[in-house]
Amino acid sequence: MSETKFRPYDKKRKILLVEDEQVNQEILQACLQGTYEVLPAMTGAEALEIIDREQETLSMVLLDLMLPDMHGMDILRRMRKDVRTAGIPVIVMTADSKAEVECLSHGAVDFIPKPYPRPEIVQARVRRIIELSEDREILRWTERDALTGLYNREFFNRYARQLDTFHPEEPSDAAILNITQFHMINDRYGRAYGDAVLAAAGEEIRELLKETGGIASRSDSDTFCFYCPHREDYAALLERLADRVNRDISGENRIRLRMGVYALVDKELDIDRRFDRAKMAADTARSGYSNSVGWFSEAMYEKEKLDARLVEDFAAALREKQFTVYFQPKFHIRGEKPVLASAEALVRWNHPEMGMVSPGIFIPVFEANGLVRALDRYVWAAAAEKIRDWRDRLGITLPVSVNVSRIDLFDPRIFDNLREIVEKNGIGYRNLLLEVTESAYTEDSAQIVEKVNQLRAMGFRIEMDDFGSGYSSLNMLSILPIDALKLDMRFIRHAFSAEGRDTRLLEAMIRLAEAFEVPTIAEGVETAEQCEVLRAMGCDYIQGYYFSRPLPADAFEAYMLEHRPGEN
Ligand code: C2E
Ligand code: MG
Ligand code: MG
Repeated sequence: MSETKFRPYDKKRKILLVEDEQVNQEILQACLQGTYEVLPAMTGAEALEIIDREQETLSMVLLDLMLPDMHGMDILRRMRKDVRTAGIPVIVMTADSKAEVECLSHGAVDFIPKPYPRPEIVQARVRRIIELSEDREILRWTERDALTGLYNREFFNRYARQLDTFHPEEPSDAAILNITQFHMINDRYGRAYGDAVLAAAGEEIRELLKETGGIASRSDSDTFCFYCPHREDYAALLERLADRVNRDISGENRIRLRMGVYALVDKELDIDRRFDRAKMAADTARSGYSNSVGWFSEAMYEKEKLDARLVEDFAAALREKQFTVYFQPKFHIRGEKPVLASAEALVRWNHPEMGMVSPGIFIPVFEANGLVRALDRYVWAAAAEKIRDWRDRLGITLPVSVNVSRIDLFDPRIFDNLREIVEKNGIGYRNLLLEVTESAYTEDSAQIVEKVNQLRAMGFRIEMDDFGSGYSSLNMLSILPIDALKLDMRFIRHAFSAEGRDTRLLEAMIRLAEAFEVPTIAEGVETAEQCEVLRAMGCDYIQGYYFSRPLPADAFEAYMLEHRPGEN
């Protein structure tokens, strides 16, 4: 896309005057010369040459239709087809009044009949057309993204609302297009390459919109939004876009696209929410080898409603203490008899209308919006109070582990919060164990490692939760000093599945932890057999229904008294 053509206002604007009759040239030049710089052309070829050379600076073209070497209409068509000249206004001059409609329909903006009207009239028309075109151009540059020529998000939203206003009954779709792993493309092939990919996608989208109707925008570098009349063939559409980009840019099928469609939008929802839904759908599209389309579904709608409800109810729930902390024992199994060694604090939401809600449902929601920080602080404090309470009343100091979300680790106040909780209860840093889930380490590993090291320096012991569920495990193990490794429950499920027993992977994991001299904890152990096999393999601790489900504090207290922790 060319540079914007802003011209300083103290300079004369340039007008191309295409007219083969000398007399007419002179009349018009006399009429315009004072105000404008007039570039004369006597033939079509001359005109095209000047248009080509001066396209950046021309304010207008005055075009005679009857030229010695071609018809003026051909010049008009040529200008309209080329994006670089399509925006230059053209006024057609002809004696043939019937040509008026045809000229206008080919993109002329106005019409001056021959013989010419009074000079003031010609001057007024020229001035008005230039003003209009410059205003339009200013708007064009503020409302559009320079790289792709598509709307920017703000104007897109505004025009989408206008479409709704003018066509309230038109069934419409909101769709989002995303370039898979765009940052990798940028990294590997350079920014200019990435820009070329975006520009090609933008151009094809503009082509496509001519056929389908609707509007499109680009935002967040590699995200395109469409708002268009309802259609079914998004998969084909996506292939077409991918083909175009790959053909133009990479020449091989290097670039993959992903799309999310929220079809037949509810026009009561505001525009941003509609695209949130399209985005949700895009997130379900397979982001692998092929181009794929995800659709917003009823189930996603229900999930969205539930999530919104949970967020809405959160503040009251915290205030009214609807969150309860349950405790699940962990046993040391290396000795002759299993010995109660610690417990894990697991939060439950006793919702006044929905009943007991599992953390598997609400924790991810609160992680997405940061509320998890307040919740975790509450759970940590509750766990610390119990440690103190049991110590004071029962004379038993049982370490309790709490879950630390990756969101917590990015919170600069985490150190002060934890210190305050430990100091206030006088329980000692070693008795509040911190479980950090493995997936946290993938996010910004350098930062996470630093935070975890700081926590250890304060005296906390760190357990890596759900080990083996992500990809960071192996590398992380060698960098990061941790105090225990909790094997992801899936290893147990896999080892003892209905299809038969295959404990090789499980055993390999335990050997791995051994090599790094880190004790292992197996979670989700449900049977005596599993417990025995794990023990034989050298697993150190076990947590699971086999010993006990997570219990409310009172019940856990009774359980603890029955299984007094060993003197170790
Ligand atoms: P997690 O930290 O890996 O916790 C272990 C989960 O396994 C718990 O699920 C526990 O109830 C369950 N479990 C324990 N033994 C068995 C068993 O033998 N069989 C089976 N099938 N399951 C068993 P829960 O309580 O539903 O918690 C789910 C996840 O939610 C936790 O996984 C943890 O990631 C998260 N979570 C729980 N409480 C908190 C919290 O206070 N803060 C944060 N940030 N996350 C929490
Ligand atoms: Mg845990
Ligand atoms: Mg776990």
